[in-house]
Amino acid sequence: FDGWTEFNLDVDDEEAGQPHAPAPILAVVGRPNVGKSTLVNRLIGRRQAVVEDVPGVTRDRVPYDANWNGRRFTVVDTGGWEPDAKDRAAAIAAQAEAAIATADAVVFVVDATVGATDVDEAAVKMLRRSHKPVILVANKVDNAALENEAHGLWSLGLGEPHPISALHGRNSGDLLDLILAALPEPPPIIEGGPRGPRRVALVGRPNVGKSSLLNRLAREERAVVDSVAGTTVDPVDSLVEMDGEVWQFVDTAGLRKRVNQASGTEYYASLRTAGAVEAAEVAVVLLDSGEVISEQDQRVLTSVVEAGRALVIAFNKWDLVDADRRFYLDKEIERELRRIPWAIRVNISAKTGRAVEKLAPALRRALASWEKRIPTGQLNQWLTALVQATPHPVRGGRAPRVLFATQAGVAPPRFVLFTTGPLDAGYQRFVERKLREEFGFEGSPIEVSVRARK
Ligand code: GDP
Ligand code: GDP
Repeated sequence: FDGWTEFNLDVDDEEAGQPHAPAPILAVVGRPNVGKSTLVNRLIGRRQAVVEDVPGVTRDRVPYDANWNGRRFTVVDTGGWEPDAKDRAAAIAAQAEAAIATADAVVFVVDATVGATDVDEAAVKMLRRSHKPVILVANKVDNAALENEAHGLWSLGLGEPHPISALHGRNSGDLLDLILAALPEPPPIIEGGPRGPRRVALVGRPNVGKSSLLNRLAREERAVVDSVAGTTVDPVDSLVEMDGEVWQFVDTAGLRKRVNQASGTEYYASLRTAGAVEAAEVAVVLLDSGEVISEQDQRVLTSVVEAGRALVIAFNKWDLVDADRRFYLDKEIERELRRIPWAIRVNISAKTGRAVEKLAPALRRALASWEKRIPTGQLNQWLTALVQATPHPVRGGRAPRVLFATQAGVAPPRFVLFTTGPLDAGYQRFVERKLREEFGFEGSPIEVSVRARK
């Protein structure tokens, strides 16, 4: 299983526009004191505190989640470039370039009460080269009398200047409409809304005890429910009440009839597994605690992880485990399940009913991780510290920098790292491992992909 993590290492430029593509990115650039952070506050509706300027701490490229008329996007506040750096032009280019390169559109802020400066003009050259859509904002136009000042900014050659007052909110709604028009359509927000019972796949190779467990659950809870108000349940599924909640075990018709013992080359068993996993949100993979973890078990586990479903591993037939077996099983787990240390494990017996009541809480925990969203601010605070403490190794005199990250989606959680170049697979796995250490995601696969700026 050496190639294990490869499935989530795909560089995802092709993913743009797909349901799990990250929200489009808007960069806000301009000289210091033109009102960028005031504007960003305005754009994000002050739902998140924009970091105050602290001497010595750059506010460079801090991303925030924004949402306007139900469309979400990410605002990257670029701080200010240093107008009095020694090599001013280079400083401007370096500061703003990375942010602009990763952005889908740029808001270029100019202080209308000051007018266009030579620093602004230098920035315009760079903006033109980027070929990104640019919205020219004339800020600090606090009243109609100041509108004339904004007209002077036509001279920048970026088209119409849009007069606003970031401080008072004047014309900020119009600006948001312009921004949305300039950004590509974001992925739809799938979360929320009424939801039927949680869909669970009960999978594992033949004879691990799937039918026994389903029967046990049905018997123990006495109610295999036939319907839940307001939902239609596929006739091949079973509704089972566990721990006060109704769960939908998908594609259990075969289990109930116990056909899979008679029929069934492994090929058909694996098709059935794939179908059930696809239809489910979370999979319970049953393993036979009395037997070594086999290739076939591994294939079942792989199918769950590759499908991106939450995962609970149930070591069944625990009634047969003695101290001796326990010892070897621990070693096996360490060796065979090394690639999925995050999977939640329960030791059960479908035969005696041992610990079967632990299944529902385990499923809930796995699903919570599967749907977890890390706020962008929190994610980037953590990331900044991480890449500072452990930067990417230098290769051929260069090391790509990780600029920032966003969570592109949930179910499972997907993260996109925006970088100045491709990352080593090893470094990417390092970030992924640290991400888990920090935020958990117990019971859920996560995906980390890289978007290198062009
Ligand atoms: P940044 O360095 O570009 O992020 O600028 P700030 O957002 O920190 O703003 C610099 C100063 O300009 C602050 O004192 C703001 O209160 C002020 N400011 C920002 N927007 C406006 C505006 O629309 N009108 C006026 N009058 N002042 C503003
Ligand atoms: P399936 O093919 O995965 O559906 O497995 P079954 O439920 O048909 O079980 C296969 C065999 O294992 C049957 O003989 C069961 O009685 C037995 N079995 C299932 N669960 C347990 C358990 O927890 N302990 C023991 N000792 N036997 C079990």
